[in-house]
Amino acid sequence: MALRFYNTLTRSFEEFKPINPPRVGIYSCGPTVYGSSHIGNYRAYIFADILKRTLSYLGYEVKQVMNLTDVDDKTIRDSQKAGKSLRDFTEYFTQEFYKDRDLLNIVSADIYTKATDYINEMVSIIETLLAKGYAYKSEDGSVYFSIEKDKEYGKLSHLDLGTLKEGASGRIKADEYEKDNVHDFALWKSWDKADGDAYWETSLGKGRPGWHIECSAMSMKNLGQSFDIHTGGVDNIFPHHENEIAQSECATGKTFVKYWMHNGWLLVDEKKMAKSLGNFYLLQDLSERGISPLVFRYFLLGAHYRSKLNFTWEAIGGARTAYERLAAEIFELPSHGNINQNYKNKFTEFISDDLGTPRALALIWEILKDSTLEPADKKATILDFDKVLGLGLDKLEPLILPYNVQALLKEREEARRAKNWQLADEIRQKIEDLGYLVKDTEQGPKIVKKGSANATQSTA
Ligand code: AMP
Ligand code: ZN
Repeated sequence: MALRFYNTLTRSFEEFKPINPPRVGIYSCGPTVYGSSHIGNYRAYIFADILKRTLSYLGYEVKQVMNLTDVDDKTIRDSQKAGKSLRDFTEYFTQEFYKDRDLLNIVSADIYTKATDYINEMVSIIETLLAKGYAYKSEDGSVYFSIEKDKEYGKLSHLDLGTLKEGASGRIKADEYEKDNVHDFALWKSWDKADGDAYWETSLGKGRPGWHIECSAMSMKNLGQSFDIHTGGVDNIFPHHENEIAQSECATGKTFVKYWMHNGWLLVDEKKMAKSLGNFYLLQDLSERGISPLVFRYFLLGAHYRSKLNFTWEAIGGARTAYERLAAEIFELPSHGNINQNYKNKFTEFISDDLGTPRALALIWEILKDSTLEPADKKATILDFDKVLGLGLDKLEPLILPYNVQALLKEREEARRAKNWQLADEIRQKIEDLGYLVKDTEQGPKIVKKGSANATQSTA
């Protein structure tokens, strides 16, 4: 089956035909580094990771660029609140992001671009738009994009141009706004007091870029004026991606991006998980409840990337049980087998159909149950799939103990240190009830799965 993706631009499934095969350029809207990314944000980055891994698995040469928004309304506002320079403030959250990325087993982008390193490129696009009459300067020296001049404005979000033009009076300076506020948007914001030190002296005057122009500049500089895939969450469709298309295509006269792909919401209590709503969780919150980042990844892959997914502790608990069982089963299988071609074909078919990870996960369980397959071949086949799924199944040793057993072991060690032998024995019993035997040795406690010859050094 040919590789196909759902393209937001055409609202249909399309066969994937890159502009310059086997090369594929992907631009993924990355974090605004004004706070820790929450697990809703990570849904967007894990989706982009699966996309990238899938294309690599299928033999494409992928170049992925991800931006780090280190200047916009929110970074300026919060760096000032924290009394820090924009650079120091955003650098801290950039490093946090990299740490989380590694914990989630997300393959690093080929290039991470900081918006503040691309001011010249942004200015140059804005100069072109001014020269071509698509942009104008307002009284305060800011530059706005005139949506009326762009006959195709609204094509990504499928806005009705008739009503749009009627409502399109005035202009909007804020980076973020809703569809019922369709207006000329800011390309360049002339400096005002609230910006503090966040400004650049350029041919456009003293000021800073609007959010949307940042992504146009960073993507085209690194991937060319036309490239293959642009990703982000559904909330990016309007206004961010709509505006990116308008600025880029009016400046270059070329198609900006061929395939637009967007992930659905991660919800909490059926509402969007968002920093502004205060209903978000960090990876740290999950870890405190014994949920590892890879369990969260498994949880996400159980749903299609475009569907809404409701986060509950019960649902993530179910994912944890399944993932830990999977990890334990694979750990026990012998190595050096062969990949089963029949299953590999099925797997390829599933992921080629708009990244069908739920069916891919189901296939893994089918393989584990298949008694006609050699155990070593099961392992080789599943580890091959894991190049796409990224569940860390190739490096299970540190994960083999379920999180709750690890936590109990830690508690038991503390009880032993406090010479509370009764409590230590009670905990040993709890661990046994979970199917593990504890042996105290000179090197510390060793733990063995009941019925297994394999002793694992405790991580307590
Ligand atoms: P931001 O840092 O707000 O620019 O968001 C970074 C990425 O996370 C964007 O691609 C958003 O679309 C995505 N995102 C934000 N919240 C959610 C959510 N609750 N579910 C899925 N994706 C989200
Ligand atoms: Zn962006």
